[in-house]
Amino acid sequence: MEELALYGGTPVFEQRIGYGHQYIDEADIQSVVDVLKSDFLTCGPKIKEAEEKLCDITGAKYAVLISNGTAALHAACSAASLGEGDEVITTPITFAASSNSVLYCGATPVFADIDYATYNIDPKSIEEKITDKTKAIVAVDFTGQAVALREIQAICKKHNLILIEDGAHSIGTKYDGIPVGNIADMTTFSFHPVKTVTSGEGGAIITNDEELYKKLILFRAHGITREPQLMINENQGGWYYEEISLGYNYRVTDIQAALLSSQLDKLEGFVKRRKEIVERYNQAFSQVPEIVLQEEIPESDTARHLYIIQLCLEKLTTDRKGIYDALVAENVGCNVHYIPVYYFPYYQSLGYKKGLCPNAEKLYDRIISIPLFYGMSDEDVDGVITAVKKVISYYRR
Ligand SMILES: *Cc1c(COP(=O)(O)O)cnc(C)c1O
Repeated sequence: MEELALYGGTPVFEQRIGYGHQYIDEADIQSVVDVLKSDFLTCGPKIKEAEEKLCDITGAKYAVLISNGTAALHAACSAASLGEGDEVITTPITFAASSNSVLYCGATPVFADIDYATYNIDPKSIEEKITDKTKAIVAVDFTGQAVALREIQAICKKHNLILIEDGAHSIGTKYDGIPVGNIADMTTFSFHPVKTVTSGEGGAIITNDEELYKKLILFRAHGITREPQLMINENQGGWYYEEISLGYNYRVTDIQAALLSSQLDKLEGFVKRRKEIVERYNQAFSQVPEIVLQEEIPESDTARHLYIIQLCLEKLTTDRKGIYDALVAENVGCNVHYIPVYYFPYYQSLGYKKGLCPNAEKLYDRIISIPLFYGMSDEDVDGVITAVKKVISYYRR
């Protein structure tokens, strides 16, 4: 990278700024300490408390806290009764968990292409991929922007499909004024530290459907119940419980639930600050012809998790890697969201081939995620803007 010496002499940032970072305050720390001093480290009252807050935030009836966002997707796919022979349509521009969870259930992921402007799954491509075997859609609110829910719900209704919304990026987002979580049959969240709110590891499934809720509760804890009305055999006494379906140990601890509960109290502030940062980036980068911005649909009031710059490669003398490396030399932490899932050797071994989703593949070659997190100061944001402009002008054709 000798070329970088030209402008890399003094990086814009003295110390590396990450592309994402959790924000933990004293209230968060105290909430965890309180649990450690209490009787319940797991299966205690903090789980219900956090679940109730998720219901308040989303307006949905039921929330099931679970060990992580991947387990949430697995549970949702299982509650949707997905199995061998079933096809599930999803997007390749996502974290592998979205389609892995379909595979966990023995069903087959079918990748629909994205809309090249919004980066979200394209309803027209979904329609093209529907067969007699299609049973569900796993739609991902990529970067936090809600998918085209009206169109996708219409497709689900027409073809009798279950809609699972992977909302790992979109807690706090509203679609047509309705919070994400209160729209799809099931919505999943992740509380990994890079996401908008965190519990260290953690996830949740949100639903309004009581039957699905009951299945999710069983799935989270071994398929075991202590509720007499669910038991197959006669209750034999106070110690008695029954395993009535096959489940997992996907529980969260009260330590995590307490942290989540405390973080959820800050959600509104988190979302507000993220929107301000996005606005500042949008203003700056809309003036840069080498950068294409993600199109925002009017229906989505977006709690943005990721900020992506798309490079207009025709106007640059380098490729995405050149820009990425230069930004890293400026101490700007970057990432690429995402490598199309079916590019991975494992998916290739299942028979998926490159060329499947041309828009997703073209986008992948041109995107970089730049820092976006609550704790960024205006100076940090302006520093990132300066670094991006510096790198772009260096490589301007
Ligand atoms: C983070 C993420 C997941 C998985 O969540 P974990 O909590 O890390 O298991 C699933 N889908 C998407 C789109 C994600 O970004």
